[in-house]
Amino acid sequence: MIIRLKKNIDEKKASELGKELKSFVLKQNGAYILVTPSKLKEVEKKYSSLVAESIPFNDDIQLASKKNIPGTREIKISKDIAIGGKTNNTLVITGPCSVESEEQIEQSAQLCKKLGVKILRAGAFKPRTSPYTFQGMGVEGLKLLDKMRKKHGLKIISEVRDSTHINDLIEYADIIQIGAKSMYDHGILKACSKINKPVLLKRGFGTTVQEFVQAAEFILSGGNENVILCERGIRTFETKTRFTLDLCGVAWLKENTNLPIILDPSHAIGYAHGVPDLTRACMAMGCDGLLVETHPNPSIAKSDASQQLNFDEFTALYNSLKPIAKSIGRNIL
Ligand code: PEP
Ligand code: MN
Repeated sequence: MIIRLKKNIDEKKASELGKELKSFVLKQNGAYILVTPSKLKEVEKKYSSLVAESIPFNDDIQLASKKNIPGTREIKISKDIAIGGKTNNTLVITGPCSVESEEQIEQSAQLCKKLGVKILRAGAFKPRTSPYTFQGMGVEGLKLLDKMRKKHGLKIISEVRDSTHINDLIEYADIIQIGAKSMYDHGILKACSKINKPVLLKRGFGTTVQEFVQAAEFILSGGNENVILCERGIRTFETKTRFTLDLCGVAWLKENTNLPIILDPSHAIGYAHGVPDLTRACMAMGCDGLLVETHPNPSIAKSDASQQLNFDEFTALYNSLKPIAKSIGRNIL
């Protein structure tokens, strides 16, 4: 249950009540709220003079529920970049799967600059399926991304592989990406709940939409309100594509949760040939962002080579998104 306390209740009183009701205590819009265990369905009469509103929930989706906060949360990535809320913005994010060298990431940054894309993506800590493949450049990679950020005025998104290097991500990334394989890593979820930076939480490929949003609740209930969901495909019986992009799940998330949602067609299909069509379908559906992997020379990419678009393919795709965005009243950022 969510209990909104009256505006005049101070921090000390709120935390005392929080202890009594075994709740998380958060501050939202200048007032304290308690997030109680989901079993609690009624507030005892003795507390009623302190309570402005209480919202019982039938499941464990509480802070992410539209019943608690209607609409979609607005998330600010920087002074002039925001998604969700009433912005109608669709944030395009592009860049390679991994930072591989200064030359490669410089070329990627220049593609962003040329097209007006504001967010450069690239992994520095890669959670690979095999220990015998490229594992990422680590902090060196983050420093190269930081260099691009300063040189070209871009914002950076990069993924955290485990909680041991979370502080490096906090230092260098503007948006922290939690990868599909890490969706259940409670060390990462807890660490991300204690900061205010936007977090892009990717859906684990073997998880339900319910489990996905519950993972987001770990970040929200720790105090970080800036959670963005990312659908990147789930495992189905189909083997011709790498994963299956669950747009039905996205429709459910849009209807029931207040979290902005970014779609990642690249990791879903896993093959460059389908990425442009799938990205246009995602745009037409109306989403808060699109994440598309690109590489100056995809055939020699050190990770996810088969799915990355070359710069000409991405440029054509990017231009084709504009009329779709216009027709549904969205702004491409
Ligand atoms: C990535 O974004 O490069 C990545 C590894 O994504 P995912 O966690 O969705 O597989
Ligand atoms: Mn990738």
